[in-house]
Amino acid sequence: MQRKEQAVIAYEIKLLTLLGFAGSFKLCVKCGKKLALGAHVFDATRGIICNSCMKDVSFMSISFEEIKILSFLQDASFEQIDKLVLTEEKILSASSKILLLRRQHLEKTLKTEKQ
Ligand SMILES: [Zn+2]
Repeated sequence: MQRKEQAVIAYEIKLLTLLGFAGSFKLCVKCGKKLALGAHVFDATRGIICNSCMKDVSFMSISFEEIKILSFLQDASFEQIDKLVLTEEKILSASSKILLLRRQHLEKTLKTEKQ
């Protein structure tokens, strides 16, 4: 089940990226610096904001590990993704960020979404 959910998240993030809705999980959307270890925030309208730029921002926090997972799911092939085994907690975390992106850009809740 987790493998299936992981593939669904990877598919969604690739689709949102192709549509231009996912942004980069490698660079800060405010200053353009490469993301590194430390605190970050996730803004579904713009993307990831680094710890230097997050002073005036109050959005959902996101760990560097979560950013690395989203970046991997965005860039890796499905063969590479199939070799990655994520815990249920990490899948849920990635899934929540994708849900926010999708809701933000599609401006509605899909009928297939679990409430
Ligand atoms: Zn920044």
